[in-house]
Amino acid sequence: MAPSFPLAGLASDGWSTDKEATATCFCGAVQLAFPIEGPGLINSFVCHCSDCRKITASMFASNFTIDDRYLRHVRGKENLKTFAQSKTIGSGKLMTNHFCATCGSLMYRVGEAFPGQSILRLGTVDDFQLSETKLKPTVEQFTKTRVAWCNPIEGMGQSNGMSM
Ligand SMILES: [Zn+2]
Ligand SMILES: [Zn+2]
Repeated sequence: MAPSFPLAGLASDGWSTDKEATATCFCGAVQLAFPIEGPGLINSFVCHCSDCRKITASMFASNFTIDDRYLRHVRGKENLKTFAQSKTIGSGKLMTNHFCATCGSLMYRVGEAFPGQSILRLGTVDDFQLSETKLKPTVEQFTKTRVAWCNPIEGMGQSNGMSM
């Protein structure tokens, strides 16, 4: 089995428990802690929308949503820069990116259409095993803009547009 905490960034103090885990940026300046079960964990999904492709500099985003009442900034909140726009967002409403000012890691997005929630990034979670278990996405959305060489993921819900 692959190590749960592989060398994946400069910080080596990420952790997970039965109920909570950390997400840390590439340089280690920003660390979040969040619940890995409901009600604090709202959902986990893969998004193929054109906006997610651009913002991740990749072909899709792996996201999970946390109720803000349960999201903790362990360190580096003051090191988060924000950038917001609405032009490319499916809902047409403002979406604000929160990213590390030092290394550029996008830590979460906050959408006007989803008040009280933050959309975190599965790839920043320090315990890699959680992507296989409690944080594994359950649905793929915006499959209409999925790159043609990427097949539907077996056993995962499929949605042409927004899944929730
Ligand atoms: Zn950083
Ligand atoms: Zn998207």
